[in-house]
Amino acid sequence: MTIEVSTTERIDIVDITSEVAEAVPADVSHGACLVFVSHTTAGVILNENEHRLLNDIIQAVDNLVPADEDYEHDVIDDNAAAHLQAMILGESVTVPIVDGELDLGRWQSVLFVECDGPRTRRVSVTVIEG
Ligand code: ZN
Repeated sequence: MTIEVSTTERIDIVDITSEVAEAVPADVSHGACLVFVSHTTAGVILNENEHRLLNDIIQAVDNLVPADEDYEHDVIDDNAAAHLQAMILGESVTVPIVDGELDLGRWQSVLFVECDGPRTRRVSVTVIEG
C-alpha cells in the first residue's frame, strides 16, 4: 500500500501513524510493518509528535547539514543538503505488529520528514505476517 504525503515547508514533518496503522490488514495479528520512503531527499523516523519537539527536530536537521554550505551536487539541482539530511534520517522504519496493532511505544509516532519541500511524496507500507 502507498501513502501520499504533502508538505508545505522546505523541511517539514508529517505524522503518518494513523495512515500506516490503516494499512495493516485486519487479518494480520502478528508480524512487522515496513514503512519505506522511496525518495532521496526525504526520510521517516519514529519519535514523539509534540509540536515544540517537531520544531527542534527541524532545527537539528538544518543545523546538522546547513543548506547554505558549498556542496558539489548543488550544481545539478541545488539540493545537496536535502540528500545529506535524508541520509542521516534514514529511508525506512519497521514497527512490530502485536495483536493486530502497531506496537509503538507510548510516545512514538511514525513521522515522515521532508527535506526538500514543499512536495507531494509516496511512502510505501509493507506488512510481513509472522
Ligand atoms: Zn539532487
